[in-house]
Amino acid sequence: MNNYEYLLSDISILKGVGKSLQARFKRKNINTIFDLILSIPSRYIDRSNESKIKDLHIGKIQTITVNVEKYNFPRLRNLPNKVICSDDTGKLDCIFFNSYEGYIKKILPINKQVTISGRINFFRGRYQITNPTHINSDKNKIKKIHTNYSLTEGISDNVFNKIMTEALNNIPIINEWLSPNILKKLGNVSWNEAIINLHKPNKTRIDKKYINRIIFDEILSTFLINSNIRKNFKKNIKIPKKINSNLVHFVENKIGFNLTNDQNKAIFEINSDISSKKRMFRLLQGDVGSGKTIVSLISAQNVILDKYQVAFMAPTEILAKQHFKLFKKIFGKSVNVELLTGKTQYKEKKEILKRLANNEIDIVFGTHSLFQNKIKFRKLGMIIVDEQHKFGVNQRKKLSEKGGTNCEVLVMSATPIPRTMMMTLYGDMDVTLIKSKPKNRKEIKTYTKDVNKINDVVNFIKKEINNNNQIFWVCPLIEESKKVDHQSSIVRYNYLTKFFKNKIGLLHGSVVKDERDRVLNDFLNKKINILVSTTVIEVGIDFPDATCIVIEDANKFGLSQLHQLRGRVGRGYKESSCILLFRSSLSENARKRLKILKSSNDGFFIAEEDLKLRGYGDLLGFQQSGQKTFRLADPILNEDLFILAEKEIKTIEKNNGNLSKYNTLLKMFDRADIINELI
Ligand code: ADP
Ligand code: MG
Repeated sequence: MNNYEYLLSDISILKGVGKSLQARFKRKNINTIFDLILSIPSRYIDRSNESKIKDLHIGKIQTITVNVEKYNFPRLRNLPNKVICSDDTGKLDCIFFNSYEGYIKKILPINKQVTISGRINFFRGRYQITNPTHINSDKNKIKKIHTNYSLTEGISDNVFNKIMTEALNNIPIINEWLSPNILKKLGNVSWNEAIINLHKPNKTRIDKKYINRIIFDEILSTFLINSNIRKNFKKNIKIPKKINSNLVHFVENKIGFNLTNDQNKAIFEINSDISSKKRMFRLLQGDVGSGKTIVSLISAQNVILDKYQVAFMAPTEILAKQHFKLFKKIFGKSVNVELLTGKTQYKEKKEILKRLANNEIDIVFGTHSLFQNKIKFRKLGMIIVDEQHKFGVNQRKKLSEKGGTNCEVLVMSATPIPRTMMMTLYGDMDVTLIKSKPKNRKEIKTYTKDVNKINDVVNFIKKEINNNNQIFWVCPLIEESKKVDHQSSIVRYNYLTKFFKNKIGLLHGSVVKDERDRVLNDFLNKKINILVSTTVIEVGIDFPDATCIVIEDANKFGLSQLHQLRGRVGRGYKESSCILLFRSSLSENARKRLKILKSSNDGFFIAEEDLKLRGYGDLLGFQQSGQKTFRLADPILNEDLFILAEKEIKTIEKNNGNLSKYNTLLKMFDRADIINELI
């Protein structure tokens, strides 16, 4: 058997794992032996030191060897069963609630020596242990370090430990994949040594080096995959594209504002890529409203002027349409532009496909559907993906394959994430950051308000509407729910309709598509002034006249999410505001978070602060990206290991690393689909 074949086997090959136990493990996402082994104990308890009864410490877990003297099984139902035990220094009672007499007699036979371990209580002048779980006539079974796992219902620690022991007994010795240099930095711990020390430790204070070794492996495997996607992407020589240096000027004249320094820098970096011999594989990252769209459109036009086609993908139809319109407005005269979405009629769609294949369309805007296999381009020179975090890694990998050697890839994302996560999520790409926002931007004023004072908010909105402005009103839930006491969008819509009849629309996840598009278009075309919704409204859409966003139960949202929501306003020249409504009972943590949001309009700062308060798992974007989160590694807590792994990847890349050495590592960390093509 290969090293990894055993580890990737189903746990059902282990003795003692039947169908029902297998199902219970499955509920905890433990399918393979490797999954099992990576379930690191949540607690270690040292039961190895034995004490005499007279020396027992109340409240502590202790181990004693005693003689079983006498049973006391009361006939009354609610009284517990008692077993009186002793050693040569005193007496100890074992108390059993809800245990069968037969069972008690079996584990504690009269006049036999047994070793017991448990938490010591003192009751009516005597030591006792209640419902002891660790009793054995064989001292050695008790006197050791015990491991606790975070259990699923129906798997006891005993069973978990037994199965774990079974799994560990058959573990093959894994050939080392880490370089001697890295291994040394990690304390020279081999994989096998790490695993054994974590599950079968010989002391309770476990050296960090064991867990670090395993975590490092997990990070390195992720980075290796990234590195190889990148290598594959860059391996072929392409035809450099020509750059038209007048474009920026042309566009600035057309749209009436000058690009910011960061926008110009982004265009410069993109131009360097597309005029080089290597394909571009670049992430353009910038906070909401930083002006990524125009950068991408200028890049697209460069590619078009060099006689290539461009595909522009957005996560929603409405956003695709908005980009389409903007591009048409700027470059429409000289360029063939089309929009292809799920709503495009069959006949028209057929026509567009035909023209794409004949190179009669220069740029097509659309949604996911653009990347179906049946859509063929004659001369695709660039793929642009907006709001990339909505799509996920697999799609990015597909992207890297579509389009052939001459196709550049530019993806955009507004989700600010810390550096360790950047390395993880986008380690395969080059990155351009847009930090500054356009100068004319007014700060969005952020207020918090008790929902009881909703009248004030209504009055405020009345004024906004008189000034011909628009308002988003966001609620966490669709319908009123008894379980969760969030303000529902429907209830709020009905309430606000009393004040703003005919000026208000409602959007949530259950509104059918046609109705949804109608409402959004009404809002976009200013037929209505207020849009009440759940969080379904897409990020990215530009509503220049939206000057106010009200967010109910603001404390229920993540900080980054609130920041993204807030980014829907304040895109034009007008003063904008964000009103965070809350109920009076705010937790300390919630107050802190709202304060951070009030104090800053900088998405990166907010993301970092959010992470500190909530942990990375909740961060917007990480979950949405579709990428599996790490099992063990934590981008905040293990920052040093991420940085070490990044260095190691660079070394491997420099030495043109042979991946076969990492075969087992890559297979184990469950990235088989990507790996097959790499090794
Ligand atoms: P995002 O980076 O979130 O995608 P957009 O590209 O949608 O942001 O830009 C947000 C708004 O800012 C748009 O209305 C756009 O026209 C405007 N904008 C972009 N660049 C500038 C600039 N340099 N000066 C002024 N306004 C700009
Ligand atoms: Mg955008």
